[in-house]
Amino acid sequence: MDRMNELAQRDFAHIWHPCCQMKDYETLPSIVIDHGEGAYLYDVNGNSYLDIISSWWCNLLGHCNPKINAAVKAQLDKLEHVIFVNFSHETAIDLADKLVNILPKGLNKLNFADNGSAAVEIALKLAFQYQHQTGHSEKTRFMCLSEGYHGETIGALSVGSMDLFAQIYKPMMMNNIHVEAPDCYRCPFNKNRECCECECFKYAEEAFANYAKETVAIIVEPIVQGCAGMRIYPPLYLKKLRQLCNEYGVLLIADEIATGFGRTGKMFACDHADITPDIMCISKALTGGYMPMSIVCTTDKIYDAFYADYNEGKQFMHSHTYAGNPLGCSTALAVLKILEEDKILEKCQPKAEYFNNLLNEAFGNHKNIGEIRHINLINALELVTDKQTKTGFDGKLRIGYEIYKKALPHGLLLRPLGNVIYFNPPLNIEEKDLEKAVRLAKIAMDEVLG
Ligand SMILES: *Cc1c(COP(=O)(O)O)cnc(C)c1O
Repeated sequence: MDRMNELAQRDFAHIWHPCCQMKDYETLPSIVIDHGEGAYLYDVNGNSYLDIISSWWCNLLGHCNPKINAAVKAQLDKLEHVIFVNFSHETAIDLADKLVNILPKGLNKLNFADNGSAAVEIALKLAFQYQHQTGHSEKTRFMCLSEGYHGETIGALSVGSMDLFAQIYKPMMMNNIHVEAPDCYRCPFNKNRECCECECFKYAEEAFANYAKETVAIIVEPIVQGCAGMRIYPPLYLKKLRQLCNEYGVLLIADEIATGFGRTGKMFACDHADITPDIMCISKALTGGYMPMSIVCTTDKIYDAFYADYNEGKQFMHSHTYAGNPLGCSTALAVLKILEEDKILEKCQPKAEYFNNLLNEAFGNHKNIGEIRHINLINALELVTDKQTKTGFDGKLRIGYEIYKKALPHGLLLRPLGNVIYFNPPLNIEEKDLEKAVRLAKIAMDEVLG
């Protein structure tokens, strides 16, 4: 038996993998990865996989990036972890300084946690407590957008709208207000995202008119609704939302967990609209995909509502064991240094154009591709059975999963979202690898779609 088979069998014996049907592993066992380098992963049998999805969107600057590796190693020999209440360390302090300089203006206070969902929970609790402590205890509910995704713990799931993840748990969830999100590919107003007035914003206006009084905050994924299939919407929507939140005293929470750190071409997606949310969650690319870490960023205004004598009971009583973990902070610092020194964002622009052109050449006339949408290096191909009616494939066919399976033996790691095949590579990927990704994706898709 080869090494892969042996390890995959041991894997199957005890490991319950996330977000999948384990029975599928009978026919597609775990691919056991030995090492990574740049945009590539190598399995224990020596096969390579082009990681065009950045390992769940977090790997920002390639696997085993030598500069990040060096930073972790240096930190490891100094301090691996310390309790973060009453204690601190220089790496976290340096990181906070650097972050505040690049975050949307006014986000000055940083609350550390260890994963994206935890950051969303913190954002919800912070917002709730802020309203309560500033005389608005009548505000108890949250608003969110349809098809939104904010993680899978109970609170985060409650402000998500993807039934795939949430359906069964509905009886456990908060009673939130779900606002119809922009859906530019199937725009109900027959506009297109390059030149519309965000007519669909009327759904938000209606919801605010009806429910703002009882609403603590609205949470959104700015510009790109990732899990929904990389649904991209115009910055104008965010500008209008900022305005509406101000008018009604509803806090704006931006979940930049997937969009932060240059993914959309600007440092943060909120920068496209030139807005500052009241609370912003960052994770994933924050550590270049190295360490589980997240940060909830907020304004002085919110911070000040918690700042009082202990006996007043206004403090935010929330903690995670690994908050401010030094290894996480060291990777984040290294990421910021590389982004700046290597001018990663500037270099991305021509690469993103090149990539989008390649995809348009390869798939522009494909009978089953309804839309190719992109922002920076994120590209998504929406699969349809009929381009006129924009009808998607029946979910039971699992067309994306079939394409994923076909791509693997060709050495390409895709992870489609339902009917959407997407690409979200590390920002420093080379053009030859982008070309290869398009070529291999085409082969896999031709094998499935004919
Ligand atoms: C991944 C993601 C989360 C959840 O982060 P986890 O670390 O997986 O808990 C939340 N929001 C968005 C937009 C994400 O992409």
